[in-house]
Amino acid sequence: MDVNEEDLIGEPLDEVPQQQPSDEHCLGRRSEKRDGESVFVAYCRSTPGRGTDHVGEGRCKHHGGNAGSGGDREGSGAPEDNGNAETHGLTANGRKWFERHRDDVEDDVRRMVAGWMADAPFGYDNHGNVRLLVDAAINECQVRRGNEYIRENGMVIESFNGIADDGREIYERKENPALRPKSRLQRDTVRILEKLGILDDPETQTAESQREVADALREALDS
Ligand SMILES: [Zn+2]
Repeated sequence: MDVNEEDLIGEPLDEVPQQQPSDEHCLGRRSEKRDGESVFVAYCRSTPGRGTDHVGEGRCKHHGGNAGSGGDREGSGAPEDNGNAETHGLTANGRKWFERHRDDVEDDVRRMVAGWMADAPFGYDNHGNVRLLVDAAINECQVRRGNEYIRENGMVIESFNGIADDGREIYERKENPALRPKSRLQRDTVRILEKLGILDDPETQTAESQREVADALREALDS
């Protein structure tokens, strides 16, 4: 496996990468509900194909092993966790999400914080407030990514919900799961900015504030 499983425990399922079944294990993502959200528990250590007609390869019966289309068992690695593989990233802990997407979003976070600091009634020496701004900026990046997910998948999505007795695939239609956490994050951001007395003006930035924000960001993120 190319991931550190320990680090992923307790993370929202939609943030946990899928693994291909190995020769020893199913490796479907096991999850449990916590506060209404599915969180990751472990990769499944069942024998590959356990409880299916393809024992020895592919997913076990609990992780979609019986959902394949037969033949070469192409589908035996497909729908696990009832196929609801969300990738919007909106329910992830902000800091952990940032660490995973740092290469993609660090510049954006930096720019946003610099823009807000230009309007802030406090300086970079106010570490507590700067940290709050960093969190707000990470929120914003999560929201943007969620927006892309919603654009691509629509307001209503269909999710795979299992196989009926007659072999038909069952799909459930529901509100895009990104919508609710998205408005929560947006409210958080607005609350932080209001509390700190900052007007939202991300265009305002100077080379000087960029340098300052680089230092402050490094400090805030690595502490
Ligand atoms: Zn399994």
